[in-house]
Formats: sequence, C-alpha cells, structure tokens
Amino acid sequence: MFNVHTFQTRLEEELKTITNDLRAIATYDETTDNWEAVPGEAANQEADNNIEADEVEEWNERRSTLATLEIEYRDIKRALAKIADGTYGICEISGAPIEIKRLEFKPTVRTCAAHMNEESSLPL
Ligand SMILES: [Zn+2]
Repeated sequence: MFNVHTFQTRLEEELKTITNDLRAIATYDETTDNWEAVPGEAANQEADNNIEADEVEEWNERRSTLATLEIEYRDIKRALAKIADGTYGICEISGAPIEIKRLEFKPTVRTCAAHMNEESSLPL
C-alpha cells in the first residue's frame, strides 16, 4: 500500500497552480463546469490589419493553452475525486493496483502499465 495523502497533497498543489493559470486566461462557468477563454486586452483596441492578425494569433494560442490546461484540470479533479471515494491508484480497466512508480511519475494516471495504451479510450 502507498500513502495516499502524499498524492493528495501533490494533486491539491497542482490544482491550485492550474486554477491560477486558468484564471489568467479564462473565466469559470459554474453551471456548465467549463472554462471559457477570455480575449486579451488588446482585443478592445481599434486595430489595423497587423494588430488584428496578432490578435487572432494570440487568441488561437490562448485557446490552445486553455485546452491543455483544462485537460490537466479535469485529470486532477478526477484523481482527487478518486482519493475521496477510495478508488485512487486502481486501474480503471482491470481494477488492478496501479504501479507506484507510475503514480509517482504522473499522479493522475488512470491505468496500470498493462493497460496504458487503453487509457486514451477511457471516457472523460
Ligand atoms: Zn489494468
């Protein structure tokens, strides 16, 4: 057995960091449990074509950063929920204990080593 509190502490720290990163570029909608990207300040300025192109680029970058952060955010929330209901560290496919080394490397991992290739097919 492993000490689940070690992982809980680490996940809670990571959640704090991610939430701060998300808040910098997005707003949280409680009713849908979704983060929405917010445009940068530059978007409100009157723009010539160059600025507009920069803004589109910035906006696209922002949305792709948001997508990445949102996945991490959900992964961490899921892992914390599993800690709360006592299923943390158990492979979601086989029900076998997940190798401690895998959890240490990535605390949000959802499968044991034997099923790592199937992790991406698990529902969100
Ligand atoms: Zn497994």
